Amino acid sequence: MKQLHDECGVFGVFGHPDAATITYLGLHALQHRGQESAGMVTTEGRHLNLHRQMGLVVDVFSEDVLSRLSGTSAIGHVRYSTAGSSSLQNAQPIKCMFEGGALALAHNGNIVNSDELQGYLKKNGHVFQSTSDSEVLLHLVATAYYDDIPKAVSGMMDKALGAYSMVLLSPDKLVAVRDPRGFRPLVMGRLDGAVVVASETTSLDLIGATVEREIEPGEIVVASEDGVRSIQAKPAREPARCVFEHIYFARPDSEVFGQQAYTVRKELGRQLAREQPVEDADLVIPVPDSGVSAAIGFAEIQDAPFDMGLVRSHYVGRTFIEPEQRIRNFGVKLKLNPVPELVRGRVVVVVDDSIVRGTTSRKIVEMVRARSPKAVHLRISSPPTRWPCYYGIDTPSREELIASSMSVEEITKLTTAESLGYLSVEGMHRAVSGAGKGGYCDACFTGNYPVRTDRNWPPQRHGRKK
Ligand code: SF4
Repeated sequence: MKQLHDECGVFGVFGHPDAATITYLGLHALQHRGQESAGMVTTEGRHLNLHRQMGLVVDVFSEDVLSRLSGTSAIGHVRYSTAGSSSLQNAQPIKCMFEGGALALAHNGNIVNSDELQGYLKKNGHVFQSTSDSEVLLHLVATAYYDDIPKAVSGMMDKALGAYSMVLLSPDKLVAVRDPRGFRPLVMGRLDGAVVVASETTSLDLIGATVEREIEPGEIVVASEDGVRSIQAKPAREPARCVFEHIYFARPDSEVFGQQAYTVRKELGRQLAREQPVEDADLVIPVPDSGVSAAIGFAEIQDAPFDMGLVRSHYVGRTFIEPEQRIRNFGVKLKLNPVPELVRGRVVVVVDDSIVRGTTSRKIVEMVRARSPKAVHLRISSPPTRWPCYYGIDTPSREELIASSMSVEEITKLTTAESLGYLSVEGMHRAVSGAGKGGYCDACFTGNYPVRTDRNWPPQRHGRKK
């Protein structure tokens, strides 16, 4: 239903006897970051064993598959295609043999000069198995290799522009790296002495690991038999952490960029209520699940009761065929249904995290209105989404983003709500940077892209290729 999609999630473990099971669980806790494919590479110190498949983590890794993924170190990946089409060919991790031996890579993010780099590599005789920008990164590592994989990764960082939080595995090393702007999260922890890295802390929580720290922008962390080594491979640039991780993508129980996503989301809701209060509101209801934390914060400042006025079904499959238009708003109804007794006769405030095309918001408002409230007001805990993302989030093209062509008044009419209020860009930054942490990317709201290339800008569409 949500038309913005998470990018990917990565996980890695070095030096644990149950590496495959640990990675399976770690990926399970990252499932919200990608549901199209999952994969894992393990090593026992000699070979790299790969399994990847389309589908959810629970379906991809049976007991039998896990028992064949032997070894004490592993990397894993869950994917929603951003660059590259949705097919097994583009699933990760990617594995190769090169001069330095066997190597596998799992990547979260998007490389903005990928087409240009791939064109250059092809002219120099490189062949590609997929359309994924992650394969370009693997070629860059191989090209920069002289005698040491971390040095080769550093060489790759000289050429790749954009967002990458990634893990690489060779038979004797786990390497974790984050781009110099730190767009995507990547944390490191310990489990029974083993080193673990993951996109989000929920992964580490599930396996009982302690969270040590974030991997810093521009940093390469190498885990091997010699211990853990940190290399500040590139100077950290002005940070451009993805603010949407806090608004919607990360799990609320994750600590992202040093802050609990739940707490930040609630503060976004509080700030929204300060900026866009609703007179005489009787009830604040979230669009579950992503609007819940913000709605709690909104209700607190609005001083109105919060309740779960929309109930979400968690069992919606992807293959259901819509029975044409016979049932109004059928697609949204499959997922959400209002509680009539809660909304009837009340001034209801519906809180959601974003509006993408506007169609879903309209359906939600219509659905609530059908239960006879006195009024339905819509409040959004982020600014209008006007620009596409080129750093690893699947957004529609600019033309499809409703706020790029319509004013707030026009969108209000489209949604049929009595009123519509967005959070301001300044209010968003105040809520997210409350702890004194600045340096967020807000390009999908402002169009101020922190990383661009001259030769390949703007890219056509880094969403799913048609
Ligand atoms: S453009 Fe938006 S979604 Fe993309 S990295 Fe920046 S803030 Fe995140």
